[in-house]
Amino acid sequence: MSDSGVLIVCATPIGNLGDVTFRVLDALRDADIIEAEDTRVTRKLLARYDIHTPLEAYHARNLEVRTPVVVERVARGQRVALASDAGTPGISDPGAHLVDACLEAGLRVEVLPGASAIISALVASGLPTYAFYFGGFLPRKAGERTRELEKLAALDATLVFYESPRRTAATLAGIASVLPGRRAAMARELTKVFEEVTRDEVGALAASLATRELKGEVVLLVGPPLPGGPAEVDDSDIRARLGTLMAGGASRKDAVKLVAEQTGTARNDVYRIALGD
Ligand code: SAM
Repeated sequence: MSDSGVLIVCATPIGNLGDVTFRVLDALRDADIIEAEDTRVTRKLLARYDIHTPLEAYHARNLEVRTPVVVERVARGQRVALASDAGTPGISDPGAHLVDACLEAGLRVEVLPGASAIISALVASGLPTYAFYFGGFLPRKAGERTRELEKLAALDATLVFYESPRRTAATLAGIASVLPGRRAAMARELTKVFEEVTRDEVGALAASLATRELKGEVVLLVGPPLPGGPAEVDDSDIRARLGTLMAGGASRKDAVKLVAEQTGTARNDVYRIALGD
């Protein structure tokens, strides 16, 4: 084993190629090899800064095969840089697996800090930051997601989740049914041209996004429990949510079902309001 070998974990931009540190650029330039989660994405960064270090793919689909190869490189004395497709390697990507394997093998690991979508989204949301819980991606199946959220319901912290744009509205509706009344935010395309941060009560946010076709990358945030429990949802709030959904093309039946779930109100009561009673 050689002393000079090191795994250098390099935080790279989450969108804007200007968001990279001098240390990371030096590390990428001086490395013997870069292990990249998505070689096309990392190549764009390298091209921008005129870096010509060779790249290899290290991602969730090849990590079982690639990990021992990379560990062996570091053990032989190579400087191996690790870059994920966005942000800090190890956060919701296979980087953590490689760091663990290198440490278990008694090898040196250096982390060069930089962008991560969690922190940018948390600060951009304006929600409390005294404590936060990062939950990665919530389960896709509604039952599992509900159980996961129920476990988090009493936590006095802002909850942060990664989500795909396609599932954003459904996930928010699921969150609204377990944690109604909470403040929430959706942070989309941070540091990019179409950056957007939208904030509202969680059910209202779900309703307003249900009618939009979202694109890009999304972080969802839910504020801590409200003092005195969830805010009351009144008839005019329910009427407004139904209006937003139906204006976006939802049938009355679907809108009633969704609003009942979001607000924890009996479906018959929502139906009565939808009929204008
Ligand atoms: N390692 C990355 C980090 O430190 O942020 C996260 C990798 S995870 C596989 C990718 C998720 O991060 C996306 O699905 C999205 O939820 C979030 N994300 C990444 N870039 C983002 C951006 N520019 N705006 C909003 N969310 C982003």
